[in-house]
Amino acid sequence: MSPTELEARITGLLAQLSLEQKAALLVGMGIHLPGAFSVQQAEKVPGAAGSTYPIPELGLPSMILSDGPAGVRIEPKRADSERSYYCTAFPIASLLASSWDSELVTSVGQAIGVEAREYGIDVMLTPGMNLQRNPRGGRNFEYYSEDPLLSGKMAAALVRGIQTEGVGASIKHFAANNQETNRMVIDTLVDERSLRELYLRGFEIAVKESQPWTVMTAYNQINGIPASQHQWLLQTILRDEWGFDGLVMSDWFAGEDVVAQMQAGNDLLMPGTPEQNAEIIQAVTDGRLAASVLDTNLRRFFALLFKTPVAHHYAYSDQPDLNAHAQIARQAAAEGIVLLKNAAALPLKTQAKIAAFGVGSYDFIAGGTGSGDVNKAYTVSLVEGLQAAGFAVNTQLQQRYLPYIAAEKAKQPPKKYFFELIPPVPEMPLDTNIVEQFAAESDLGLITLGRNCGEFQDRELEGDYYLTATEQVMIKTVAEAYHAVGKPVVLVLNIGNVIETASWRDQVDALVLAWQGGQEAGHAVTAVLAGSVNPSGKLPTSFSLSYADVPSASYFPGERLPEATEHFFGPISKGWDSQVDYKEGIYVGYRHYCTRQQAVAYPFGFGLSYTQFAYSSLQLSSPSFQGELMLTVEITNTGSVAGREVVQVYLAAPAVSMDKPSHELRAFAKTKLLQPNETQTLVFTLNERDLASWSVATQGWLVDQGEYQVKIGASCLDLRTEASFQVL
Ligand code: BGC
Repeated sequence: MSPTELEARITGLLAQLSLEQKAALLVGMGIHLPGAFSVQQAEKVPGAAGSTYPIPELGLPSMILSDGPAGVRIEPKRADSERSYYCTAFPIASLLASSWDSELVTSVGQAIGVEAREYGIDVMLTPGMNLQRNPRGGRNFEYYSEDPLLSGKMAAALVRGIQTEGVGASIKHFAANNQETNRMVIDTLVDERSLRELYLRGFEIAVKESQPWTVMTAYNQINGIPASQHQWLLQTILRDEWGFDGLVMSDWFAGEDVVAQMQAGNDLLMPGTPEQNAEIIQAVTDGRLAASVLDTNLRRFFALLFKTPVAHHYAYSDQPDLNAHAQIARQAAAEGIVLLKNAAALPLKTQAKIAAFGVGSYDFIAGGTGSGDVNKAYTVSLVEGLQAAGFAVNTQLQQRYLPYIAAEKAKQPPKKYFFELIPPVPEMPLDTNIVEQFAAESDLGLITLGRNCGEFQDRELEGDYYLTATEQVMIKTVAEAYHAVGKPVVLVLNIGNVIETASWRDQVDALVLAWQGGQEAGHAVTAVLAGSVNPSGKLPTSFSLSYADVPSASYFPGERLPEATEHFFGPISKGWDSQVDYKEGIYVGYRHYCTRQQAVAYPFGFGLSYTQFAYSSLQLSSPSFQGELMLTVEITNTGSVAGREVVQVYLAAPAVSMDKPSHELRAFAKTKLLQPNETQTLVFTLNERDLASWSVATQGWLVDQGEYQVKIGASCLDLRTEASFQVL
């Protein structure tokens, strides 16, 4: 359909539809949550998160919407079918961001797009792209980074991949949705500069660079107004300033005032309730809501609908190529693994005999819980990955762990809801004599520490951000036993979110941040341990020395308001009237640690390789800025094995009109696989916006005059080459 034909068709439809039909289209069809809300129609794709109202006589089908960030989330079993409908669990977003590789993320997006399309889904509720403001944030694993540029670029890459396959993407949760505590009622108090430079910036990049078909508004309020009712956010910023022309939908059951949502341009209410439907009709009838508002929202609804597979009568197969997607998941998982420490313990020798400690080695975690979870057919554990690659993993130790894990799991109560976070299997206590015996029999000790988290709750400090006492004893016992006989200990972090590492990391010889790598994780970690993949991931978020060092530590997750009341949203989601004040302003993550010279355990952008890289010949296209500036730098692999380097461009702007962070990420690139002695020239372009900060005083992006320093480095603290230019 040409744009003119589309316009004519939509205008024709608007003239034909009754008020009741219009309201019905703008309110989803409900969701199947046992004991809470019931669907208003049979589910076409069981387990999908929602659907829209169909009017078959007008040729308007129902769109199917499905989560989520690590892959398609649908029910794997159906009452009317013997077969299964599994989906591929790709690595979590934080791992994808650690690859700093847009092309890779686009390939993951494409696979997700194909899988969605072949299972009859029209819109994917992904990417999640809120900032990792605080390590306790329960959904950080669904998000990319503490930095908006990296978040925006990664989200744009995923959206491009999904939408290339003819399926829509919904970037979420717009905006400032950085915690789970009181998530549906929390009022986020955030100043405009921080909003613009941090919390909105990633969304702006994604909107401008990938034109997502839809945006999902957040549950929280922003400075007193629920995001889904926020005229300034949805109209002034998103549509007028950024030129977004797609549909805006609410997060599930978000917002309290349907009229305000419609007026703000939150076009579609999801998953939709009969009460919302009735309220729209009543409000138009009473004159509280102009009928023209519905038409405006419906125009965007139809523009989306007519792009979807269902509108094109796509004959989906229910047979996506899960084997091919597993390969993509495996490759992506390996590319995002970050080597944090390596005292000559890695890569493993081919014949290495390994004793694997820690419940996590056998029960590897593919991804987080909640709507970001995926119903996958299997998860390859680390031990399975090692064994598949031919490593001799001590079976006696395995035979101690497996029954222990099975017995502990048998004690766990069944999940009440799909999104319930089941407490982890407690670490198995280890007897020193036995560990010494394994140390004598194997070449190295491998320990896995696992953590899981997810939607509906933020993380606790005790036993989650910090290690449990049993975990600390395990590390100490294994390290002492192995070091006593001159053998190394390698520790793998199978986590979705930052944990404390500073107090115990000296005891291990190598530390590998494997994140939660999806269903193929065990193979991917093995490839990095064995050196068949040279690690090239870098941290998308800082690891502070302690929780107290996190800039938002004292303000997270906010406070109840005086005389707060408790609100219930279905059986498990509830929240108190509360506020969280983003008092740290723009100093989130490395912007805080670098500017205030606060030491960290591992800085933003950090990651080791089995080779080394030299940075040289930095050149600027001009000594002064004339609307654009080109930078070139040469990266040479100076080590003895092939590898890839993530090169980060930071800019230090003069603090003339306002305070500035010491330096901020303004561009990045990842080299190709460089052979030893091979050099690649990377080119970066800085534009005016990269130099600017948001001036509340002038209500605009302001570029101060003065000297700007370009610092190119391997992390925010490992700056290898610098140059400066002037803004006259
Ligand atoms: C989550 C969204 C998700 C939606 C549908 C909500 O609880 O916040 O991220 O897309 O549910 O499952």
